[in-house]
Amino acid sequence: RAKQRGKGKYAIFDPTMHSQAVERLHLESDLRNALDKNQFVLYYQPIFNLDSGTIEGFEALIRWQHPEKGLVSPFKFIPIVEEMGLIIPLGEWILNTACQQLSFWQKQFNVPLKLSVNLSVKQLNSCLIKVLERILEQYEVLPNTLTLEITESMLIENIEVTSHLLHQIKDKNISISIDDFGTGYSCFSYLHRLPVDVLKIDRSFINDLELDHRNQLIAESIITLSKSIGMSVIAEGIETHNQKIWLQNHGCKLGQGYLFSPPLPPLRATMMLEKGSSQDSRKVQF
Ligand code: C2E
Ligand code: MG
Ligand code: MG
Ligand code: MG
Repeated sequence: RAKQRGKGKYAIFDPTMHSQAVERLHLESDLRNALDKNQFVLYYQPIFNLDSGTIEGFEALIRWQHPEKGLVSPFKFIPIVEEMGLIIPLGEWILNTACQQLSFWQKQFNVPLKLSVNLSVKQLNSCLIKVLERILEQYEVLPNTLTLEITESMLIENIEVTSHLLHQIKDKNISISIDDFGTGYSCFSYLHRLPVDVLKIDRSFINDLELDHRNQLIAESIITLSKSIGMSVIAEGIETHNQKIWLQNHGCKLGQGYLFSPPLPPLRATMMLEKGSSQDSRKVQF
């Protein structure tokens, strides 16, 4: 490295940069074995009907159970997994695990529960349809109970290919939602051309609802937009009772957030469903 900078120039040895590089190498080598060692887990965050208090479904959110570091956030490892090209096998593991869990819940509780799975941009390729077909058939999951979450930036990246693929997904009756809506390019012109079923209002707008009038306007616009083009809308990151009430008053019917529940390990998510089904079906008090 230092030599490349040319004669007479010094590269100052920076110990933090060095330790970051070493840390990254360790992460990569740990990640290479993590799938085989069964270190990934899916957590499930319930999505509620705000008016009735029933659980409509869950969003699957991955964690890495690292032997020394404990639970590692997807923000820390998904980008690396993507760069390493491991997102294809990991993505398949995620879809497989999520649908197996969904199938179990649907049979156990005999309800048309839904499940959302986040996709990475690299998974948007022609193999995805085959993988989805196989998994849905294997676990006898009705396609319309599975939702795939993509972000606005994933749409923009390669609009022609993505649009074709989304139509193929829709032809299979699988639902599509746009995650973190409002934070990306928000190019409204593509929306009506794409088979999108759900818009998810990004957490950042919900967080500051009470403090920032502009966020109210944005959230309101997204709710209105979704209605006018016939999509449903889900609010992410509801943390306070006031946020919930505001959303209800503005016509948003579905939401998830720490006010109701954080993402839960599978057993705890099952317990939450049980708790619900012992009262009115899937109804949880909040
Ligand atoms: P996302 O899909 O937008 O997921 C929502 C994130 O908000 C989750 O973070 C969730 O734990 C968090 N959250 C939910 N309610 C609240 C709340 O009330 N307050 C706050 N402050 N946060 C809340 P998480 O689980 O760390 O996931 C982060 C991101 O990582 C996800 O954002 C998604 O983009 C990505 N991700 C997670 N799981 C997967 C996966 O299986 N595959 C892929 N490709 N990406 C994933
Ligand atoms: Mg999501
Ligand atoms: Mg989101
Ligand atoms: Mg987000």
